[in-house]
Amino acid sequence: MRRIHYMDKLFLDFLQPDQVLNSPEELLAYGKDWAKGFKANASLVLLPKSYEQVQQIVKCCYENKIALVPSGGRTGLSAGATATNGEVVLSLEKLNKLISVEPTQRTLTCQAGVITQKIQETAKENGLYFPIDLASAGSSQIGGNVATNAGGLHVIRYGNTRHWILGMKAVTGTGELLELNGELVKNQTGYDLRNLLIGSEGTLGIIVELTLKLAYRPKSFHRALCASDSMENVLSVMGSVREKFERVSAFEFFTKDCIECVLKHHPMRNPFETIHPYYALIEIEDLSESEEEQFQETLLGIFEEERITDVVVAQTSLQSEELMLLRERIGETTSSHYTVHKNDLAVPVRHIADFIREVEERAPLLFPDCPVLLFGHVGDGNLHVNILKSDALEVEDFFELCHKNDHDMFTIIQQFSGSISAEHGVGLLKRDYLQYCRSEAEITLMRGIKKVFDPAGILNPGKIFAPERA
Ligand SMILES: Cc1cc2nc3c(=O)[nH]c(=O)nc-3n(C[C@H](O)[C@H](O)[C@H](O)COP(=O)(O)OP(=O)(O)OC[C@H]3O[C@@H](n4cnc5c(N)ncnc54)[C@H](O)[C@@H]3O)c2cc1C
Repeated sequence: MRRIHYMDKLFLDFLQPDQVLNSPEELLAYGKDWAKGFKANASLVLLPKSYEQVQQIVKCCYENKIALVPSGGRTGLSAGATATNGEVVLSLEKLNKLISVEPTQRTLTCQAGVITQKIQETAKENGLYFPIDLASAGSSQIGGNVATNAGGLHVIRYGNTRHWILGMKAVTGTGELLELNGELVKNQTGYDLRNLLIGSEGTLGIIVELTLKLAYRPKSFHRALCASDSMENVLSVMGSVREKFERVSAFEFFTKDCIECVLKHHPMRNPFETIHPYYALIEIEDLSESEEEQFQETLLGIFEEERITDVVVAQTSLQSEELMLLRERIGETTSSHYTVHKNDLAVPVRHIADFIREVEERAPLLFPDCPVLLFGHVGDGNLHVNILKSDALEVEDFFELCHKNDHDMFTIIQQFSGSISAEHGVGLLKRDYLQYCRSEAEITLMRGIKKVFDPAGILNPGKIFAPERA
């Protein structure tokens, strides 16, 4: 792969000078996402303003064998949008137009660089709902959400991003513009290429436009926070609540260390008088007055059975927001205030208590003196294991220890038939561990698919799997 050490004239044939950035600050800012432990080393940053310019860039890179890193809001946590090897960063930030909302068919069409929160707000303005919701929604782009098949808080009710993508336009590794599925709900005409691109982390194509499905807007969200002494009880609460209420839209979990960490770094109120070992945040949509009462009675019954040790039901929208913030701030707090190694794991829901027990037993042995924060979308079997660096370790030694011990962590995952990446993607972070959850046969097929979409191997090379030697 050719490295570029100077302002390459190639791109100025079809881009304006302000669309080609190369100052050290810009290369650093655009060359990195939120993943820790990887150094940015980008050669150039390109800011195309049209689909044609994206095609021109890709064709130019294809002809000159220049590696490209597609870049969205750079909130990714697997280093998928990090350029470590002198690549050119192609940022979608100027392709940020909302194209149309069609209330009759409940769709929204937009360019890939639109910020996720803007989609949520536009849906709301039209009385509709975009249910993909992440703590990073204020910065992530819809193209990035699709490229990572993002999950978030509401997967338990609405599924992940894949479920909300009707149509897509994307540029392949040869510069061809594909228009996939348009606005069709039904279209059984061969392979669904759109679904291959969803979750492909910029390795098969550059997504430039999307038609999203929108949902009916819930009128209200009802939230409660439960405290418990055991993970088994947290899961049994989930069973009881889901048995009685159909519209459970979030069931989130976190431990004592997580709430202590958030309260330490944010001026927030502890909703309980003491700190408890485990917490479950429950969100249900559209409860009628009588259902609200039933919700409170259900929780009271669970309390009397001693499956929970305390509970607070939000009475106002402010309280409801505060409860959700306690959960949402965990990821951002660990990233902003600590050196952290993040593991985003999944196991079948029925194994989650056993898996957590195993992690709680093993983690202190694998990471002595490092606080281990467990939280996640437990209703989907998705657990975030955040390991914080201890003061005794140098940063490099810490990451070396984490990458070495990930093998043990992923062996446990394998035993539970789980996944080494539930929703953050493989990127560079999980690349060398893919075999813990995908077979050789699957990886060979994936490599073959990449070659078809990207014959020169210029799209995000080294992400998901190491580039093949020529
Ligand atoms: C505080 C915080 C909370 C988070 N919570 C969640 C969560 O709950 N659930 C979850 O799933 N994730 C979560 N994330 C991770 C992250 O926000 C998601 O992965 C998000 O979807 C990434 O979008 P982005 O636009 O920032 O993409 P980027 O980080 O820019 O890129 C991510 C990947 O997609 C590729 N890419 C980006 N745009 C395109 C495009 N247009 N075409 C082709 N490839 C592209 C990149 O090359 C890269 O491989 C969180 C992150 C943070 C910082």
